Amino acid sequence: MKSWTRRDFAGTTVAGISSAMGWAIGDDKVDNGWVDAHVHVWTPDKTAYPLSKNFSEKEMAPPSFTPEELFAEQEGTGVTRTVLIQMSFYEFDNSYMLDVMKKYPGRFGGVAIIDHEAAEVDGEMKKLKEGGVRGFRLYAFPDRVAKWEASEGMNTMWKVGAEEGLAMCCLTDPASLPVIKRMCETYPDTTVVIDHFARIGMKGTVDPEQVEQLQELAKFPNTYVKTSAFYALGEKKPPYTDLAPLVKSMVEAYGSDRLMWGSDCPYQVQEPHTYKASIELMTGGLDFLSDKDRENMLRNTAEKIFFS
Ligand SMILES: [Zn+2]
Repeated sequence: MKSWTRRDFAGTTVAGISSAMGWAIGDDKVDNGWVDAHVHVWTPDKTAYPLSKNFSEKEMAPPSFTPEELFAEQEGTGVTRTVLIQMSFYEFDNSYMLDVMKKYPGRFGGVAIIDHEAAEVDGEMKKLKEGGVRGFRLYAFPDRVAKWEASEGMNTMWKVGAEEGLAMCCLTDPASLPVIKRMCETYPDTTVVIDHFARIGMKGTVDPEQVEQLQELAKFPNTYVKTSAFYALGEKKPPYTDLAPLVKSMVEAYGSDRLMWGSDCPYQVQEPHTYKASIELMTGGLDFLSDKDRENMLRNTAEKIFFS
């Protein structure tokens, strides 16, 4: 088996990345690269892509993060494909993300946001699937999840998710995990992806009880975790090695074939954080990971859920 080291990134893969702009679906080089399972893009062009009236321009920080800016960050890292997560300030208008996916075929997967209280949830999900969307972002904050089980639209989302192979991607706090667990019990066939370790460690320390709670969700075989957003967790300092026990606890509970790495750009590329520091924790910073674990977490898991 090929062993991935930093030397690879300085060698063949870098050359590949430089010519990446013209790659299309099925291109071997794209398929062999790493997958970043969590990135947001937006454009300063607010005429073509207006913000939702519920958000203001001030929230666009940085003011621009286009796919081309992302490619520049990824250069030399071995990452060739990316899962885009619909940005909050476009709210339910997924058109910028969809247009980016169309502009670079094969390079992007998509996680959309829809209004689950609106009519036609089912039709909307299927329409977005045709555009390449494979998951839906759910804001699983405690005040919101409290209404999930009684919401017809939310129940439709989880049901259609199972039928259509579309993942429920939860941006959650640890406090919301009990509701997510009950939804997993009701909809065991629905793929569920928990973003950023359920944001355990966001306040600086990793609470072992919360880790156990997240580990418990692993008993549902269609539940996955993103080992992502290192800039926001624990000591919040590169090289992020303080997060090693947290990553290890996820590998032990889920196995690497149910984990996926994500940068959470552009937030991961604000000083002192870098793209390289995030991926290097995965490629070289964690001794307990095997080559197979790295291939799973840096490619195979995200490929299965978001690129098939
Ligand atoms: Zn994010």
